[in-house]
Amino acid sequence: MKRPVLAAFLLATSVLAPAALAQTPATGPLAEAVPSDLPRTARPIHYAIHVIPDAKNLTFTGTEMVDLQVYERVDALTLHANELEISTAELVPAGGAGRAVPLTQTFDREKQTVRFAAPTPIEPGTYRLQLAYSGKINTQATGLFALDYPDKRTGETVRGLFTQFEAPDARRFAPMFDEPSYKATFDLSATVPANQLAVGNMPIIREEPLAGGLKKVTFQTSPTMSSYLLFFALGDFERASMKGPGGVDVGIVSPAGSGEQARLALESTPPLLEFYTDYFGVPYPLPKLDNIAAPGQSQFFGAMENWGAILTFERYLLIDPTITDPATQNYTYTALAHEVSHQWFGNIVTMAWWDDLWLNEGFASWMETKASARFRPDWFPLLERVNGRETAMGYDGFATTHPVIQQIRTVSETNQAFDAISYSKGEAVIAMLEAYAGEDTWQQGIRTYIQRHRYGNTTSDDLWRAVEEAGAPGLVEIAHDFTLKPGVPLVRAEARCVEGATVLHLRQSEFSRDRKDETAASPQSWKVPLMIIPASGAPVRHVLEGEATLNTPGCGPVVVNGGQLGYFRTLYQPEMVSALASAMPRLQPIDQLGLLRDNFALAQAGYQDSAPALDLLAAVRTDANPVVAMGAVARWGQAYGYVEEKDKAKVAAFARAAWLPRLEQLGFDPKPGESLADTELRGNLITTLGNMGDANVAAEARRRFEALASDPKALDGPLKTTWLAIIARNATPAEWDRLAAMAKAAPSAVERQAYYGLLGAAKDKALAQRALDFALTGEAGTSSANIVAAVAGQHADLAFDFALANRAKVETLVDASGLTGWVAGLAAASRDPAMIGKLETFRDASPADERRGIERRIAQVRERLAIEPRLAQEVAAWMAAQ
Ligand SMILES: [Zn+2]
Repeated sequence: MKRPVLAAFLLATSVLAPAALAQTPATGPLAEAVPSDLPRTARPIHYAIHVIPDAKNLTFTGTEMVDLQVYERVDALTLHANELEISTAELVPAGGAGRAVPLTQTFDREKQTVRFAAPTPIEPGTYRLQLAYSGKINTQATGLFALDYPDKRTGETVRGLFTQFEAPDARRFAPMFDEPSYKATFDLSATVPANQLAVGNMPIIREEPLAGGLKKVTFQTSPTMSSYLLFFALGDFERASMKGPGGVDVGIVSPAGSGEQARLALESTPPLLEFYTDYFGVPYPLPKLDNIAAPGQSQFFGAMENWGAILTFERYLLIDPTITDPATQNYTYTALAHEVSHQWFGNIVTMAWWDDLWLNEGFASWMETKASARFRPDWFPLLERVNGRETAMGYDGFATTHPVIQQIRTVSETNQAFDAISYSKGEAVIAMLEAYAGEDTWQQGIRTYIQRHRYGNTTSDDLWRAVEEAGAPGLVEIAHDFTLKPGVPLVRAEARCVEGATVLHLRQSEFSRDRKDETAASPQSWKVPLMIIPASGAPVRHVLEGEATLNTPGCGPVVVNGGQLGYFRTLYQPEMVSALASAMPRLQPIDQLGLLRDNFALAQAGYQDSAPALDLLAAVRTDANPVVAMGAVARWGQAYGYVEEKDKAKVAAFARAAWLPRLEQLGFDPKPGESLADTELRGNLITTLGNMGDANVAAEARRRFEALASDPKALDGPLKTTWLAIIARNATPAEWDRLAAMAKAAPSAVERQAYYGLLGAAKDKALAQRALDFALTGEAGTSSANIVAAVAGQHADLAFDFALANRAKVETLVDASGLTGWVAGLAAASRDPAMIGKLETFRDASPADERRGIERRIAQVRERLAIEPRLAQEVAAWMAAQ
């Protein structure tokens, strides 16, 4: 199909009224191939839900009508419901001709379902299920939840309500067929205080005043969608808006008094809508797109793509020039780009079941980078992708990993699927497949896929087929290799110069952090697409299976994973690394970063000594690309952490010699008009050199902190938390008290959160204990869990033991869905051999479907204990040889 002109699309959008949406809802019982907790005998068509929240008492009541189709004669109907009390349930045949039949209910707490039994069998046909029920408002981001925060205008504590339904929590809001394949339309209405703003997926169609200072708000009917995308919010909000492409009403809903802080997100949204409309070839189908700033936080997510009503935690949506740091500003943009892309990929077309969750998340992560590269090239998002791939490979190198497409059977397993494999490996694999197919072919495949499956559900294979058909033969096989098999390929490279050309020998095996004996078990094999940058001439493409010998032009440095598009590690023979180190400044920044990260990971895993990695590190020039520079500075910081005490000063001297000139050039304060990447690099340099005991940095931090006493704005700016973090880390009891006072008096939820987090950062053990005790009071609200997590950074054992000893209280501070993984995560930085036994005990006492996260932590701690003494010696030997 010829790529349509954008203007034609815009025209098409404006004539699309919601009722006219081209929708082909699925009919017939759910296919056997799609897993389900529900009997395959009925399907919802439409929900009409009315809720009456009682924010003060954290409860709500609801009435619901579910129009549904019954496919065979049954005794009962089963829906999902969790922590709901149902007061009445009756069934009415469609058209209202028959009498309402009362139903009796039985809950299955484990499956989170409710079975409505009828006195006589229900014949196939269309029915309306009528329910009245009540539920609770949570204080963590699950189901309908409340956030308490200081009003920006008055400072008084106020309460806002929000919803979070992915993965399985729409069932806490109303009884539903709460699985992604049961798509239906939704009519939502609510009885709310007349002076508050209510937000749903769709625009408000009607507001009717009620007695007692209340009003009834009714939203337009939603398009056909999965239940996890339903949304409702209520509070003292303001809404800034502008027109997007095709007349879409784009809004940022934020706590009243936010004002200009919403501007960046608001103005960034229409260009993204336009970009995606063009990319996907389908206009955004709803009349409005809101993004709601929720003043709080979750330990597990920053934003959620509810259709037409994205929820983003405030610190990741609003820019507060007094405190928003550059990394957060970057995240703000990428999160926005991510959630807006889901409005197509995920919301229009949805995975059939949670085993393909990665398809949503990997794709949106890849798309967020693509959009960022288009609109924010000076933030170097493609280089950041290398860091994301590294996180995924770090996880994927342990035996405890899982394939991208994994079997999901339970609610707990679904929650665990939101991990680096789904997001970052998913993104890296998609980037690799796009490079294999070519950008245009890939895009054409995506367009076909979206068109073909609009308002429906898919599996990964539907996507692969669409792209292969678009003209990418062989893609399905590669895609299967990287999504159905776990782990990371390792490509060993050797090169010889023969008569002015390079004879390159490549051999593939598997990279592993904890299973070194490649001969014992048969290692996985993959079809690995390579893009080789030879010593001279054009890049060479090759799909490696097993072994290959290639002749490439010229003699000199060769990059096997050019552009860092491949998901694999390269183990170069030492001479090849030397050549690359000499050529380092001439290589593309993305390859400099990739080589650095790859070689450090290979040294850690014991595939090679640390020397090649350190040679590459020393070859990164002081004027390197800022993201490469941040990668290099972080590697010095890492080495500083594990070398012996006697060698720390030497590592600090190397790091200072390499990077102090860059900090001096940047200065301690942001310059007008400088790039965000430079601001971020400055912060990283201050933090790392500060942690290594740089006297100037420490003195500057103290000086600035002292200045706060006479001028509360002295620290305002993008580096506020950078300076405060140095103070917090080295805090005296008096300084700790001052930070605690700052948190209490903070004028906004975002500032409050930032200061509370700092309370957990102290190196001093007594202060760490004070932070833990304070967290347990719950006074810090949704920040309480972050205080505990911050303590774990310096005092992993203290934080882990504390969480176990106070389990019942800690449970009230963390989103229930990820509690086990969160507790295990506290142990991550431990250097105590006893921690392995503690984690094993914790694992054995945890439900089987929550053990994977704990296994991964055990592997991490075990590896650290095993390798750090060796790495410390290697670094010392390398420094001695310089
Ligand atoms: Zn996502």
